[in-house]
Amino acid sequence: MHLELLELQRRIQGRVPLPWIELNADIITRHNAEARPLLAFESIPLELTDLRLLVRQTADVLRRFGALDDQDYQKVQAIGRDMKLLAVVGDWYRSAAERHTVAAVPVGATASSPSGGGADPIAEVLALAMRPFLSRCAEVLQQRSDLGLWTHSHCALCGGSPDFAVITPAADRMLICGRCSLRWKFASLTCPYCQNSERTRITSFAAHLGEHDYRVYACDVCHRFLKAFDARRATRPVMPVVDNVATLPLDAAAIQRGYSN
Ligand SMILES: [Zn+2]
Ligand SMILES: [Zn+2]
Repeated sequence: MHLELLELQRRIQGRVPLPWIELNADIITRHNAEARPLLAFESIPLELTDLRLLVRQTADVLRRFGALDDQDYQKVQAIGRDMKLLAVVGDWYRSAAERHTVAAVPVGATASSPSGGGADPIAEVLALAMRPFLSRCAEVLQQRSDLGLWTHSHCALCGGSPDFAVITPAADRMLICGRCSLRWKFASLTCPYCQNSERTRITSFAAHLGEHDYRVYACDVCHRFLKAFDARRATRPVMPVVDNVATLPLDAAAIQRGYSN
């Protein structure tokens, strides 16, 4: 299923033009201070025909593999045909950014669910369909050295949450955005979901699967976990979608220990 989805996304991604995003150290510093992601929805080079196609094809694949029930499938197809598609996608896109900007303001209690919508099947389809467009945007920011000015655990570009990570040969941990695949450096032993940085309350374990080394970081405060590809002795670079699927046994192990993703 994931390979079919990747193939669909690849076909579109080749056609997406590189966006023009104004970036410099000042802009990144300012956005960082406000915890506000850099990419406005309006700046994404969206081709509506391609987006429509991808929304519907993604729903087809998910349903064929039993990952989308009939009711949600019909809903997605309706959204795909609807003139309001752009508005729906815009709301989906902005919801992540706003969550973080609001969270940056001092809050007394954590009222909203921090899980980031993994449970909403419609959001899942939109995320998959938007990936080729957002990934192209991420390419622009990824090349910039001043990306290092970003200090948050949510994505500097789109505001998405990290859903995978990579340990570089220099032993830095880079978080990888679940929406646009941007990678950015973040403290290795700080939980990106609740910012817990107490070493004794981070459980980390290594695993060797197939040909590759991986690591799981689990937080004993919020009980979420993050998987990472350990590139220090790897023969290939991290491939987030492939590695995420290849490490499903680690999810099972983490869940068994009482963590969730
Ligand atoms: Zn992102
Ligand atoms: Zn945590």
